[in-house]
Amino acid sequence: MDSVIVHYQEIALKGRNRPWFVERLVRNLRDATADLDVVRVRALMGRIELMLGPAADWDAVRERVGRTFGIANFARARRTDRELGELAAAVIRDLGAGDGNGVAGRPPDAGDRVRFRVRASRADKSFPYTSPEIEREVGGRIKEACGWRVDLRHPDVDVRVEVLADRVYYSLERFPGLGGLPSGVSGHAMCLLSGGIDSPVAAFRMMRRGCRVRFVHFHAYPILSSASQEKAREIAALLTRYQLSSRLYVVAFGEVQQRVVVSAPPPLRVVLYRRLMMRIAERLARRIGARALVTGDAVGQVASQTLDNLAVIGDVVTLPVLRPLVGFDKDEITREARTLGTYETSIIPDQDCCTLFTPKSPATRARRDEVERAEAALPIAELVDAAVARAERHDFVFPEGGGRRTGEVGAAS
Ligand code: ATP
Ligand code: MG
Repeated sequence: MDSVIVHYQEIALKGRNRPWFVERLVRNLRDATADLDVVRVRALMGRIELMLGPAADWDAVRERVGRTFGIANFARARRTDRELGELAAAVIRDLGAGDGNGVAGRPPDAGDRVRFRVRASRADKSFPYTSPEIEREVGGRIKEACGWRVDLRHPDVDVRVEVLADRVYYSLERFPGLGGLPSGVSGHAMCLLSGGIDSPVAAFRMMRRGCRVRFVHFHAYPILSSASQEKAREIAALLTRYQLSSRLYVVAFGEVQQRVVVSAPPPLRVVLYRRLMMRIAERLARRIGARALVTGDAVGQVASQTLDNLAVIGDVVTLPVLRPLVGFDKDEITREARTLGTYETSIIPDQDCCTLFTPKSPATRARRDEVERAEAALPIAELVDAAVARAERHDFVFPEGGGRRTGEVGAAS
């Protein structure tokens, strides 16, 4: 098998923007496989072909393509000329009936216990045979050569044939893609990334909608341990496997919290922290042209996530605050975190800065006027400026890998 045929999400990519979306997907696939022996990636009549070089490791290619957004499904495929006899012979050869290699671990002498199906589609309708004719012809030859039985509903072996203008592709096994939109088509968003389970999943959801997600993490080191920062960096690196490049801003927040503590009533502290985080995140977001903030909030999950508190917290920024998990249950979020691969890092014990100096029962219905009165005693603008100025920037790339600390935010965007 010398190619991978990628089918993108047809419906999502319809309309005037389609060529641009497809181009972006081609570019993302190229980047995702840059260190593998993929010799060419190109758009071809409604699908994308990756041509594999002799050193391409299929498992690695499959993993990379499987983590690329905007793909409905993909398959390892082979090319032949547009001649049905040649096509059928090549399929039979790959099925292993001739050389005793078998297919998908199935010995060729399994005879009529193997059920198979051939499905054909024509991107080029001028091909002299219809799809059912192709299916009958190729299917008939497979049956004859292998002694297998046709089963259209539950086949063990599913042969797909795609007829293009100057060649035919066939494949034997299809893999589901991640869905969503190609990374980058929806612009940038800034996600408030804690070390917890939820925010990485929220970030992933926005990434899947085509956003390039940048991250900001707040920590109270050295008052608390540095564990949350390390977790945030690790999570950013894990999520970079999907969007290929990421940026994480790490903001020291302990001093800001100490200022809040000396002047604000204990039940309001969490809401005040979160309002300050929002302001700082918005400033960093604007700096990089991000059009929205993203959080992992789900209604009612913790005290700061009542509808009242979400409203008071969201009030201080003008960028839209997107909360993709707002209607999810914790166990649904946890399941997704496991699938993504962030769960194991998220559950490493840490000390989130939001827990610093907070009472057992924080206000669940913070009132706007009370919160504003408490803030009037604080030099908000100054605290935000100082926090933004000391934000540390970390850039991540995949496949090159690794989190590199690249400098202070004050110096560069
Ligand atoms: P998570 O699992 O994402 O930590 P949570 O259920 O623990 O969420 P909260 O701690 O109230 O809920 O946080 C809600 C959201 O606020 C988080 O999902 C995240 O977007 C943001 N947030 C909280 N703490 C931090 C932090 N230290 N740095 C950056 N963002 C944070
Ligand atoms: Mg948390």
